[in-house]
Amino acid sequence: RASRQWHPEDTVIQTAHSQIGGENFTLIAGPDSVESQTHIDAMAQAVKATGATILRGGSFKPRTNPYSFQGYGESGLKEHRQAADQFGLDMMTEIMDTRDFDLIDHYTDIFQVGARNMQNFSLLKQLGQQVKPVGLKRGMSATIDDLLNAAEYILAAGNPNVFLIERGIRTFDNKYTRNTFDVAAVPVLQQLTHLPVLVDPSHAAGKRSLVQPLALAGVAAGAQGLMIEIHDQPGKALVDGAQALTPNELKDIMQKAKAIKTIV
Ligand code: PEP
Repeated sequence: RASRQWHPEDTVIQTAHSQIGGENFTLIAGPDSVESQTHIDAMAQAVKATGATILRGGSFKPRTNPYSFQGYGESGLKEHRQAADQFGLDMMTEIMDTRDFDLIDHYTDIFQVGARNMQNFSLLKQLGQQVKPVGLKRGMSATIDDLLNAAEYILAAGNPNVFLIERGIRTFDNKYTRNTFDVAAVPVLQQLTHLPVLVDPSHAAGKRSLVQPLALAGVAAGAQGLMIEIHDQPGKALVDGAQALTPNELKDIMQKAKAIKTIV
């Protein structure tokens, strides 16, 4: 069902504020984590001004270290929902566990399945039994076929609204980048599947100075959208401040991305 043989035309996912896939270019932006109502409101206003239609933000965080901040849970979801509504944006947030489905479903417009849960098959099946869009991130050790098979679980269970996000994979060299951004995955996936393919340079790079070059490389390779983390004071971000851009830096990327889009 994910293959172009099954469905030759590009899938276009329609939400209240976004069209994802086909000729559309979708910007998903926001902080790594929902930090407070004031903060998520300010971030929503900033991303809206930059042309984003989807406000990202984690309230259930998949942290490598169990002692790291894990997200504010339901209070974060509430604040996120309020900010998205106030600024006319879709809300997208991560779900890690089937047991959180009802709670997160109550608030979100779009489910995010993170790299670490790309092969959480129970979760994929559950997200397949409803029709809200699912942004499926490539696992850090997943092949392209693994990613497509993970998408297949959601599609096979009945939900056609899946989009894919390349966010970097583990390679032998992670001294200067957190992950290796697999830019070739964009055209390869687009040849193999009709599902929209977006890129997340923030998690690939792990480092602010690399986010713009990787974002623009993804756009040049034909990505149908970007997911980028921002923060007004990156040094104070509760999670992943090192990769967060300021709203002005996001604006700069979008201007350059638009110029690239005119020639690819
Ligand atoms: C995220 O987008 O918040 C995140 C944790 O990303 P990934 O699953 O790609 O690591």
